[in-house]
Formats: sequence, structure tokens, C-alpha cells
Amino acid sequence: MENKIKIVLATGNSHKLQEINEITQNDGIEFILPPDEFDPVENGETFEQNSLIKAKEASRVSGSIALADDSGLCVEALGGEPGIHSARYDSTPQKRIDKLLKNLTHTDNRKAKFVCVMTLTDKDGNVLNQVTGECHGQIATEQYGTNGFGYDPVFIVDGYDITMAQMSDELKNKISHRAYALSKMVKYIKENI
Ligand code: IMP
Repeated sequence: MENKIKIVLATGNSHKLQEINEITQNDGIEFILPPDEFDPVENGETFEQNSLIKAKEASRVSGSIALADDSGLCVEALGGEPGIHSARYDSTPQKRIDKLLKNLTHTDNRKAKFVCVMTLTDKDGNVLNQVTGECHGQIATEQYGTNGFGYDPVFIVDGYDITMAQMSDELKNKISHRAYALSKMVKYIKENI
């Protein structure tokens, strides 16, 4: 059996773990969840800071090399909001979408991007690498599709005429902000770890 490099993924979200392991299934890397005491205080002011906080915490509780991702939706007409507040913009996923659409009713500028910052730390919490992936698009006027999560039903990727929630997992995993960041990070891991 192939000996895979094991890296702790700084998340409590097993869906994210599964998604990342699917994207990297042929790269000789296996991501695993951190111990239960993983409890980062995400009080940074940027994706970079929050990604670093999560990676350091995962290295601290696991004593192992760790990868964190921090992501969100930045909308041009809203000055980059919800940004790092994407997960907490309102109390439920549907309310977050409703609030976003409502806040854009008075503008024609629907430009937006998903951003994902990934940080890799060694077993002592020192930064080994930090990379960013972006996926550019437009906020739809109504929601379409049921795949994916979060803001996927209202995000139309540039070059496509469907929302991310109408894409197959396979397609989303090729063109998403997370996929771009991950491919840069996987290249680094394969060359350096
Ligand atoms: P976190 O990186 O897990 O903290 O996620 C931040 C939030 O950004 C999520 O809860 C979603 O609301 C939003 N988000 C990040 N990536 C995506 C995506 O691929 N699709 C839809 N929403 C996303």
C-alpha cells in the first residue's frame, strides 16, 4: 500500500475534509481531522490572519504538520463584505443569501469573488507556506441550484451561465477558490515535505 503523507486539516468540518481528500486523492497526501480539543479563536482581521490562527492551533493540539483554510465571499459593491464575516453574516445559510440579495437591490454592480487562503504550519506552529486562491464571478439576482453550500446558489462563476450550486462537485472542485489554493499548496507539499 502507498505510504501517504499525513497532514492535520485545521477544521471540525468533516464535509470539508472529504472535499479536500477527494481533490487530492492522487497526490499521495491524506488529510485527517485534529483532536477534539481543536478550538481556534478566529479573531483575525484578514483571511490570512484567521488561516494562520487555525493552522497554529491545529499544530499545537496535534503536534503535527497542519493545513488550514479560511475562505469567504467578497462583494465589490459592499466594499468587500461579507468577507471574513461570511459564515456569520446572518443566522442561517438562507438568511445570509437573503441579506446579500437585499443589500444589492440598489446597485447594478454585482461583481464578487470567493477567496481562500491556506496556511501550512510545521509541528511547532511555524509557517511553512501561505497561498491564496480566488474565483471571480457575479451575484445572481435570484438563487438557483441545490448543490454545494453557503453562497453557492447565488454565485455565477465568470465564463459560466450557471451558479456554483448548479455545478457538479467535479466541476466545482476544478474551478473553485479552494481548488486553486489547494493545487498551489499540494505542489509545495510534494516538493518540500
Ligand atoms: P470557512 O472558511 O469555513 O470559515 O467558511 C467561510 C464561509 O464562507 C462559509 O461558511 C460560506 O458562507 C462562505 N464560503 C466559503 N467557501 C464557499 C464556497 O465554496 N461556496 C459557498 N460559500 C462559501
